[in-house]
Amino acid sequence: MAKNWYPIINGKCNVCKKCIIVCPQNILCEEKGQIVLKEADKCIDGCKKCREICEVNAITYYDGTSESLLYAFSGVCHHDHH
Ligand code: SF4
Ligand code: SF4
Repeated sequence: MAKNWYPIINGKCNVCKKCIIVCPQNILCEEKGQIVLKEADKCIDGCKKCREICEVNAITYYDGTSESLLYAFSGVCHHDHH
């Protein structure tokens, strides 16, 4: 369970679906042309596999802090937050 860790996918996503394939928990899927996170509580704490595979830097993580949410939606490149 990772209540304080899950990916947030931003507008840079081109729906290549690589993150879907790489996710060990199978919780990312494509719905109506968007990547959606199905069960955030199954995300593995500290896992960055989906971001590592993403070629367009479309993934940041909620890490329990309000800052991580702010950066995800502010459009600020914040790749090295952790
Ligand atoms: S790997 Fe990145 S660009 Fe590809 S579908 Fe996932 S978030 Fe979107
Ligand atoms: S952080 Fe890991 S477990 Fe969570 S969605 Fe991404 S690849 Fe899956």
